[in-house]
Amino acid sequence: MPVLVMKFGGTSVADLARIENAAKKIQSEVARGYDVIVIVSAMSGKTNELIGWVETTSKLYDAREYDAVVASGENVTAGLLALRLQVMGIPARSWQGWQVPINTTSAHGSARFVAIPRANIVQKFGEGFKVAVVAGFQGVSPEGRITTLGRGGSDTTAVAFAAAFDAERCDIYTDVDGVYTTDPRITDKARKLDRIAYEEMLELASLGAKVLQTRSVELAMRYKVRLRVLSSFEDTDENSGTLVCDEDEIMESKVVSGVAYSRDEAKMTLVKVEDRPGIAAAIFGPLADAGVNVDMIVQNISELDSPTDKRAHTDMTFSCPVNQTARAQKAMEDARAAGLFTYASLVVDTDVAKVSVVGIGMRSHAGVAAKMFASLAAENVNIKVIATSEIKISVLIDRKYMELAVQALHDAFDLEKA
Ligand code: ADP
Ligand code: ASP
Ligand code: MG
Repeated sequence: MPVLVMKFGGTSVADLARIENAAKKIQSEVARGYDVIVIVSAMSGKTNELIGWVETTSKLYDAREYDAVVASGENVTAGLLALRLQVMGIPARSWQGWQVPINTTSAHGSARFVAIPRANIVQKFGEGFKVAVVAGFQGVSPEGRITTLGRGGSDTTAVAFAAAFDAERCDIYTDVDGVYTTDPRITDKARKLDRIAYEEMLELASLGAKVLQTRSVELAMRYKVRLRVLSSFEDTDENSGTLVCDEDEIMESKVVSGVAYSRDEAKMTLVKVEDRPGIAAAIFGPLADAGVNVDMIVQNISELDSPTDKRAHTDMTFSCPVNQTARAQKAMEDARAAGLFTYASLVVDTDVAKVSVVGIGMRSHAGVAAKMFASLAAENVNIKVIATSEIKISVLIDRKYMELAVQALHDAFDLEKA
């Protein structure tokens, strides 16, 4: 039997009526002749609530217990959906991560897949089961402890199962009917894309478009999984939604295909650090050790204190997620106290956001950056840091201008029109 993977996100299983709605969609696919593997998220809001309980109980919590608590939301929806399918006469059962088993590393809170053996689920399909409802976002470590994959991880569970079972497709059911040129919550001019290249989706996801977890797109690209994003609230057929696929399967080609944003960024500047070989390693080593995810980095031109003084110094700016600023600040102060380097002051700006334009067409087009900067200038938005790669340009700006900037760039690159 061909295998289909269907994933339902938090809003798509938010209550019993929506679980029933998901069950009906699964029923149609079973009727088409598929063995179906369904991946479920926790009911929307549940994971946040569980994390809140953990953090209130213990500030410096044991990550293994965090995972034990936080993974439980998915167990509830997996069981409820299996029950609903049974009531509808469809042979189904739920699977928690350890039962499959979904083997992961022991990096609690951000575990990675090691292997997903097919045998147990294949055996159940052989016995007449039509649907395996698998709890997303979780797995089991080599030590036998429950692990989780990081926020939004059920998308990655879905793609990993599609790869492991050679599924015909991996359908991600969510609260929007596909991938848009930008978040439809920011502008109603956002346009649904019929297709998007893996590489572009990867950039959009990693730059903040949370419609798919970044890691899920990486896996889909590596294993050539046909990945589709579609709405669980609408009637859908095989042409619905957005297909994430190879570049050569896409006819429509624009220079820029999407705008992404990330609201919760911070910018830190070490003022007057000495400029000498090894200074970057001395700064970014301790940040990495402290688990700070540094994103953009800018080093200013070197200056001398005075014409007679040979000691050069510079300013070093970097960005990181806003909830890591305290950790980053402590890492820098500790490094200075330990004599790794000196600086005059550490300036922290926690009110910044990152806005990015993405498109594979940029590879062969000049002038994209100039157009982006001009359209931000026209709105009087000041750019604080710039970073580019082959297919994206990102800027850090004041957070209060984020929505304005996204809208301006969406207009400037004509994304509303197909
Ligand atoms: P789920 O709970 O189903 O996993 P998410 O909330 O994680 O759903 O992702 C869906 C949301 O992603 C949408 O409601 C939308 O606001 C947001 N989003 C951000 N960027 C985009 C985009 N480019 N296209 C579609 N949705 C986007
Ligand atoms: N429930 C988890 C989260 O909210 C995983 C997911 O929904 O993908 O992050
Ligand atoms: Mg999600």
